This record gives sequence, C-alpha cells and structure tokens, in this order.
Amino acid sequence: MSHSHNPFEKQAPIPNVKHIIAVSSGKGGVGKSTVATNITLALSKKNKVGLLDADIYGPSIPRMMGALNQQLSVNQDKKIEPIVRYGMKLMSIGFMVAENAAVVWRGPMLFKAIDQFLRDVHWGELDYLVVDLPPGTGDVQLTLAQSVPISGAITVTTPQNIALIDVKKAIDMWERMNIPLLGTVENMAYMIAPQSGERIQLFPKGELDAYLDSKKISKIGEIPFHPHVSLGSEAGIPIVESHASSTEAQEFFKIAEKIREKLPV
Ligand code: ADP
Repeated sequence: MSHSHNPFEKQAPIPNVKHIIAVSSGKGGVGKSTVATNITLALSKKNKVGLLDADIYGPSIPRMMGALNQQLSVNQDKKIEPIVRYGMKLMSIGFMVAENAAVVWRGPMLFKAIDQFLRDVHWGELDYLVVDLPPGTGDVQLTLAQSVPISGAITVTTPQNIALIDVKKAIDMWERMNIPLLGTVENMAYMIAPQSGERIQLFPKGELDAYLDSKKISKIGEIPFHPHVSLGSEAGIPIVESHASSTEAQEFFKIAEKIREKLPV
C-alpha cells in the first residue's frame, strides 16, 4: 500500500492534549457511558481531563453529568467552549440536537462532525481526553482512529458469554488498528445482597477471564451492580461524586490509578 493510501495519514494530535483514551464496547447497554463518565471523573481528581461523547447515535453524557439543555458558546477564536461539570470539560452532540432527535450521519458528514469535536472545541490543556464511543465496531471508531493518535483503548463488557462474543470484536478492531489496549472493565460483575452480604452473580460468569489471559489483556476493573450507580446517572451526579467511598466508586478510582501508571503525563 503506498503512503498516499494510508488511511491514517490525516492523523494529527490535538495541541496540548497529552493522551486520548477511547472507551468502547461490543454491545450497547453494558454500561460503557457509565464507566467512561466515572473513570473521567475519577481522573479529574488529580488531572486535567475532558470527556467527549462520541456516541452520536445515543448521547447520554449530558444527562449523566447533569448538563441537559446547556447552551454552547463560541469564543473569540471561533472555538466552541466545552461545558464544564465537576471540574471536567464536556462535549456532546447532545448539546446541539434535541434529546429525542435521531442523528442520521455517515461517511463525510460523520468525519466532519468528529473532526469538529476534536479540533473546533477549545479543549485547552488536558492530560487525558476520554472519548465515549458508540457500541460496536463501526464508522465512528474508524473515524476517530484516523483523525487522532489514540494512546489507548478501554473495552467495557458484562461477565456473560453472550457479551464476550461482542467484546472480542471490539478488541480485535483495536488490535487491527495497532492501538494499545489499556484493559477491559467488567461491569455489573456481581452484586452484594443488601441483607446477607452474599455475592450474587447477576449474569453467569463466562470465559472472559480465560480469554483476557490468553490475549495478555488486563482486566482493569470489576464494577459491581448497585442501584445507586444507575440512580446517579439518572440524577446527573455520577457515583464517583455522590458516593465516593462506595465499593463501586473505589473501583473507578483504582482504574484511574492504573491509567495514570500506563499513560503517565
Ligand atoms: P451503554 O453506554 O453501554 O449503553 P449505559 O452506561 O448507558 O450503557 O448503562 C446502561 C444502564 O445500566 C444505565 O441505566 C446505567 O445507569 C445502568 N448501569 C450501568 N452500570 C451499572 C452498575 N454497575 N450498576 C447498576 N446500574 C448500572
């Protein structure tokens, strides 16, 4: 393949942004946005961070961050000012279109939109820009990887084998694009029964651990199922903020620490 056909030739870093981290999943509904939000919030306690909601088909970051109906503004350099919540900078298509509107972009329009999110937003100096991708292995993932150098990817899954099939595809995609895998987060890994303290396996444990071992991919977190995780997202106050000492929030702080080790600033 000649250089002019290299799909990654348009790649250029975002000035002053040290690391771009992609958060992806094989399936929808495994908690990818919840994990992306809480990891970013955990990182923000020690670092300068931004969160880009690139899940353009189902943006949930504005709601999860308590930032619905925020008006974007353009500064004197004609850059879009991100919305700031809990000390982190946010950008989402959800700030531009109504929550119930369908976005039907593909190809060049999609590329333009992602490019604008990366380059026409005044991100300023960031240690980490976390990108919440749509589920699956589609155009947005490819567009992001073609536009900017990604320091590492995190995949999110639930424990059971039905989900494993899809997370394998997500992992395969990052490997094909030569993007380092920071690790996999197992979400809703188990639940602690409120009365007995018994550990309940909500979803049957499948072969996730064996698969990750065989690929030498680390499992960087196991987040229990807990209704306050979900309530926090609905209320716009993520668990890391609302219940910082809970087991769930502490898992997110541990993941943030692992990210700092793997991607020092
Ligand atoms: P995705 O981005 O993968 O589609 P979401 O982050 O939107 O998934 O999560 C799907 C639903 O599951 C949301 O209602 C969310 O609040 C809930 N959820 C995610 N993780 C947990 C958890 N660990 N405990 C309880 N509810 C969770």
